[in-house]
Amino acid sequence: MIKRRQLLTGGAALGAAGLTAACDCGDYSKVGSQINSAKCGDITPREIKMVTTWPKDFPGLGTMAERTAEFITLMSGGALNVTVYAAGELVPALECFDAVSNGAAEMYHGAEYYWVGKSAGFPFFTSVPFGMTASEIMAWTEFGGGQQLWDELSAKFNIKPFIAGNTGHQLGGWYKKEINSLEDMRGLKIRMPGLGGEVLNRVGASSVTLSGGEIYQALQSGAIDGTEWVGPWNDLAFGFYREAKYYYWPGFHEPGAQLGVGLNLDFWNDLSAQEQGIVRAACHQANHLSLAEYGHFNSIGLDELINKHNVELRQFPDEVMEALASASKDVLREAAESDDITRRIFESYSASLARSQIWSGISDEAYMAVRRRVFSL
Ligand code: CA
Repeated sequence: MIKRRQLLTGGAALGAAGLTAACDCGDYSKVGSQINSAKCGDITPREIKMVTTWPKDFPGLGTMAERTAEFITLMSGGALNVTVYAAGELVPALECFDAVSNGAAEMYHGAEYYWVGKSAGFPFFTSVPFGMTASEIMAWTEFGGGQQLWDELSAKFNIKPFIAGNTGHQLGGWYKKEINSLEDMRGLKIRMPGLGGEVLNRVGASSVTLSGGEIYQALQSGAIDGTEWVGPWNDLAFGFYREAKYYYWPGFHEPGAQLGVGLNLDFWNDLSAQEQGIVRAACHQANHLSLAEYGHFNSIGLDELINKHNVELRQFPDEVMEALASASKDVLREAAESDDITRRIFESYSASLARSQIWSGISDEAYMAVRRRVFSL
């Protein structure tokens, strides 16, 4: 029997078109279709366990991981057969990184800021307070030197990372009382994990870390006074509007949360060039579709929150945003000092952000402000 690797790398023997013709492995347009790898001729499928940090089938996040897995299986004609495990099914959410690092699973889909305990450099590849938007972080990661630094950081843990999704802008969150001044923030218990939570602590609030499934009850019982989660689409699904009337914008803490895939580095190095290309393309596809999906469903969710559930939208006062910005600067600079690679990540990120602020100031930002003022269809 021809070795599977020779089969896949030897384009003359069986190229991508040949694979499609030889297999009854579904149709590119049918995302979500079941792939029966047993139908794929003589190829022995390589089994890939994908562990994730998301609840099973959770809209946008869990489905993004499922979609990434389906594309890999589909595009490889079943030669790479990916099975997805929701948080807790194989390992708990926050242990996905170690599971892939030590080879217990071949890949994870998650948010890099969950690995902050490994290195303070990881949050820069998801989102940091007052940081990059979705398009800015994609620009930095893909073309501005971000991916090379991410590779270097992750390789220390035997992992190869890729972008594989983005939620777009996350809103400020839900508050039981109006915030009219910085003084109103003092003493509030607010669910916000990560560096954003640390920033809240420095302006007098008290941050609480709760997993998604724990938030509603904490809000209902009064254990917390406010919470962030994602945005209108996901927040509506959890029903936070029933317990907290005011929905605040903008979000400072996750202006464009990028999700990622990490592969065991030994596993990655053992893949053929074709298989590596398939994994890379599937991750890009997931990123593209997630941004489109969040953009579409967030606008619909916001409309429903306002017009059906009478949610009160509020803008954070300038005084609050200025205090949060000042504290964010301190938190990010302190993170940068933690080790050499985090300092280099911070410097690359900061330089890219400084350039993009000037560019977006006269492009997207300026155009959208004018469009909103002078035009409608
Ligand atoms: Ca969030």
